[in-house]
Amino acid sequence: MRRVGVLLTLSLVVTFGVSCATDSHTAARRVARRTRSAPASKPTIVSTTTTTVTVPPSTVAPTVATTVARAAAAGSLSLGGVRGHVIVVDAGHNGGNAAHASEISRSIFIGTQTRACDTTGTQTADGYTEHAYNLDVALRLRDLLESSGAHVVMIRTDDAGWGPCIDERAGIGNRAHAEAGISVHADGGPSSGRGFHVNTPANIAGYTDDIYAASHTLGVALRDAYAAGTGMPPANYIGSNGMVERRDFGGLNLSDVPKVLFETGNMQNATDAALLESPGFRQRVAAALAQGFARYFASGA
Ligand SMILES: [Zn+2]
Repeated sequence: MRRVGVLLTLSLVVTFGVSCATDSHTAARRVARRTRSAPASKPTIVSTTTTTVTVPPSTVAPTVATTVARAAAAGSLSLGGVRGHVIVVDAGHNGGNAAHASEISRSIFIGTQTRACDTTGTQTADGYTEHAYNLDVALRLRDLLESSGAHVVMIRTDDAGWGPCIDERAGIGNRAHAEAGISVHADGGPSSGRGFHVNTPANIAGYTDDIYAASHTLGVALRDAYAAGTGMPPANYIGSNGMVERRDFGGLNLSDVPKVLFETGNMQNATDAALLESPGFRQRVAAALAQGFARYFASGA
């Protein structure tokens, strides 16, 4: 039942990251059909019973507890909307990037400019790396989507190598004819700033005009599901209501697949970091994102 979804891609694309990312590829032409979709509606949050989070009194802890508990409320997932769909899940960066500086610094043309093949990503104050976090969330997301009948294309499934470069990350999604994609990241924003934001491609003629509308619709669906399912607030240091349009991300510029680069929180902020370091919270993150995809497809996107 979706009316769109079809997106034909040719090849090319990429994905990737923000403060942590870069990507791109050469120009491959894309011919794709435009898709559109309806805005996702906002889920309601029920309040909850709780979980098991141990929290030290006051300070940051209450936030973690409250947030995780709240997310537990949204625990009942209805992911039927993803059945039969092809979704590309890209865990940003890679564990070996730092040891391959020259390889990942290679310049790649992304249509509007050049960007590095890949970057190392950020980390929390106590050393939890973004590349490890991204992979953990991506694997959890894959499991949820696959168990609901989706076909998931992973860009990487371990944290030991380097890359792939953003152009290859895009190429993988394009060649798989994925219908929608997400690049999973956590930001390295100002330590005083909290929250998540969703990067969607700006409308760039010859590059993103074919995926612009659908990527925005996908971004809104994911944003709404994420806010409701995790309790993480929209970023207070960038964007508007958790949304940001970018024209400098190769992974988005070169994609023929509607795609977003999702910064799930700010690793430089103590409150966000405490959440991101919690395995229970990461499961909520994955569940919320899966829910967002289900709503996107169910809406006829
Ligand atoms: Zn990143």
